[in-house]
Amino acid sequence: AKELGRDNYAFFTEGMDADSRHRLALQSQLRGAVARGEFCVHYQPKVSLQTGELVGAEALLRWHNAALGHVSPAHFIPVAEEYGLINAIGVWVLDTVCGQIRAWRDQGLGDVRVAVNLSASQFAHADTVPLVEQTLRRHGVPASCLNIEITEGSVMGDPDKSVDALHRLKAIGVGISLDDFGTGYSSLAYLKRFPIDVLKIDKSFVDDVAHAASDAAIALSVISLAHNLNMRVVAEGVETPEQARFLASHGCDAMQGYLYSRPLTVDGFTALLRHPRTL
Ligand code: C2E
Ligand code: CA
Ligand code: CA
Ligand code: CA
Repeated sequence: AKELGRDNYAFFTEGMDADSRHRLALQSQLRGAVARGEFCVHYQPKVSLQTGELVGAEALLRWHNAALGHVSPAHFIPVAEEYGLINAIGVWVLDTVCGQIRAWRDQGLGDVRVAVNLSASQFAHADTVPLVEQTLRRHGVPASCLNIEITEGSVMGDPDKSVDALHRLKAIGVGISLDDFGTGYSSLAYLKRFPIDVLKIDKSFVDDVAHAASDAAIALSVISLAHNLNMRVVAEGVETPEQARFLASHGCDAMQGYLYSRPLTVDGFTALLRHPRTL
């Protein structure tokens, strides 16, 4: 038993070390990544499930580093948060997205509505609302073009402050989406307190929506809950025609997912704006 204990202990610390070494490497490369121009934003189309038309995009951050290669935001965003690097990155994302919305407008491609993900510490930051306002103004972009995607996790830390910040964003005309809905702890309480326009059904419920009764029931409940609260519903991670058909026939407003398109480069999304195709 003693032997086993020691082995387990050794295994455990080895695992921890590898993980912390990896995080350390990430954070040291993350410092200065903005300045070195290593980030770019990809745009994943959102399409209406009623008309099949393109209705906007979600901005998704991409990082390519010389030493690490391509790193997924699912890996580096939590590290950036932990080491206090997310704010600088968030400032860059917001500026880049607003500049891009302006560029599309100047090219005669209309006002594209783009959703930007905001993480927990960005939300706790007192300057987020003025930052959003200034960035929109500097690029001459209407607030209605911008939507902020939050998760329960991002507002949980300081709910009172978050409620206030969200109301101020809403007051200037920015839309608010609650992302990954259903995967957190106290979704229903948040719905009551926060001025939310859009509920996003998490991919984990969409995956088997056309085949598993439980996922179907959850999706349908989210759709009717949202509509009863005057919110719209966007399904994420839609990959098959069956999923889209099921969601459309039950009143889900819009979807994003590989079925219509993966996240696209600026050039890819611009080409789509020039030659729109329906779902
Ligand atoms: P998320 O906000 O839930 O974004 C959706 C993720 O699902 C994206 O992963 C997207 O590429 C992926 N996805 C979309 N459609 C499909 C599909 O049909 N099938 C599958 N398998 N996946 C699909 P991505 O781009 O790797 O981003 C991961 C997470 O990183 C995001 O999850 C978000 O939480 C975070 N993130 C991305 N960009 C930013 C950012 O600019 N700021 C912050 N704070 N977080 C970001
Ligand atoms: Ca999102
Ligand atoms: Ca999501
Ligand atoms: Ca998700």
